Amino acid sequence: TKYTAADIRKIAQEEDVAFLRLMFTDINGIIKNVELPIDQLDKVLANKATLDGSSIDGFVRIEESDMLLYPDLNTWLIFPWSSEHGKVARLICDIHTSEGDEFTGDPRNNLRRIVEKMHQAGFSAFNIGPEPEFFLFKLDEKGQPTLNLNDNGGYFDLEPVDLGENCRRDIVLELEKMGFEVEASHHEVAPGQHEIDFKYADAIEAADNIQTFKLVVRTVARKHGLHATFMPKPLEGINGSGMHINMSLFNENGNVFYDEHSKNQLSQTMMYFLNGLMQHARGLTAINNPTVNSYKRLVPGFEAPVYIAWSGKNRSPLIRIPMARKTGTRLEMRSVDPTANPYLAIAAILACGLQGIKEQKDPVAPVNRNIYTMTEEERHANGIYDLPSTLHNAVKALKEDPVVISSMGEHLYKSFVDSRELEWSAYRQTVSKWECDQYLKRF
Ligand code: ADP
Ligand code: MG
Ligand code: MG
Ligand code: MG
Ligand code: MG
Repeated sequence: TKYTAADIRKIAQEEDVAFLRLMFTDINGIIKNVELPIDQLDKVLANKATLDGSSIDGFVRIEESDMLLYPDLNTWLIFPWSSEHGKVARLICDIHTSEGDEFTGDPRNNLRRIVEKMHQAGFSAFNIGPEPEFFLFKLDEKGQPTLNLNDNGGYFDLEPVDLGENCRRDIVLELEKMGFEVEASHHEVAPGQHEIDFKYADAIEAADNIQTFKLVVRTVARKHGLHATFMPKPLEGINGSGMHINMSLFNENGNVFYDEHSKNQLSQTMMYFLNGLMQHARGLTAINNPTVNSYKRLVPGFEAPVYIAWSGKNRSPLIRIPMARKTGTRLEMRSVDPTANPYLAIAAILACGLQGIKEQKDPVAPVNRNIYTMTEEERHANGIYDLPSTLHNAVKALKEDPVVISSMGEHLYKSFVDSRELEWSAYRQTVSKWECDQYLKRF
């Protein structure tokens, strides 16, 4: 462990921290926080900070609403930006019931449960390297986000037109102050779109990092008069924002996906894990792509995956095996977008991979040609099927996948399905501009 309670008391005093922000994540992946003055630190460190669970989406009913926040001391961090009332420190918390038990509706507790299964299966870490993408939009006079882009830059553009570059550089600096190891930061294919990649970490830390990352990006963008959005497809006709998930499984000897003796240096364990992901690709989709808008990104023509296939050569399928070997040997799942709750997504992906290892079956053959030029018959002859094309279909596929369901546990599964069905039924009621343009005059 990085910090003891005594360390934290000492640092808080030395650094003159004024506020504590206790952070956790709701079922929809939204970061929630309870802010307390620093004189509550002892209470917080004694696991006595309380939360009204009935005020949080997908938590509990009113009659059982008292919950406790148990801070994870390793997540202690002082935000590098100052507030007008002094320094703010944060702790990411696990939710416990008033009796002190781990609350099963907390996505972070649930991820720990799946990580425990991984330990029982003989592995020490599930390393996750995310590649979150986001857009920077201008704010209007009232400070509200617009859909106006702040630049006309292109992929890896070095022209001075990239006005978001200053903002992105500032984001990277703030992330580094907070201990992130930023590996790459670049303009994306679409105008106004950016990607920042940071070093992989074990499952829980990686999910925490993704949540912290989104908070930092939005906070710094505001300071630049911009709105950062992780919405998957804010503008039609150009690429959407994904969050590719790079992953590998380690044991005490290192990366078990690497095998120096096998052809391609890829291990049999990796192939079994990959088969687990392939088998459950449809069931995983609602978790990896949980919004109506997620499916506007998963269409042909914009580099996002549409079909269930894998490749060691091609960059476009659902699952790719990058060239890196030894410690870098990994799978990359390319469907995931940044609206996914990272705790749920990582738990579900890991559970499916472990299931694959247990079943010891090889995946279908890789597809190294362009799937988008194949006919449906050719695709089916090659064992290639579609990802669900709407949130509605994805939730149906989830309901048919017991492995993905058990990766969430009963409480999370029920509230997740409820919340996604509610969103779908709200969307169904709407009439879009596209429909009026199509039909108003024609019929
Ligand atoms: P891409 O080529 O898809 O753009 P990037 O280089 O942008 O990939 O991102 C690679 C990501 O993969 C980084 O977050 C990196 O830390 C991560 N990564 C590297 N090795 C591993 C590994 N063994 N397991 C999981 N993630 C890894
Ligand atoms: Mg990248
Ligand atoms: Mg990339
Ligand atoms: Mg990218
Ligand atoms: Mg990638």
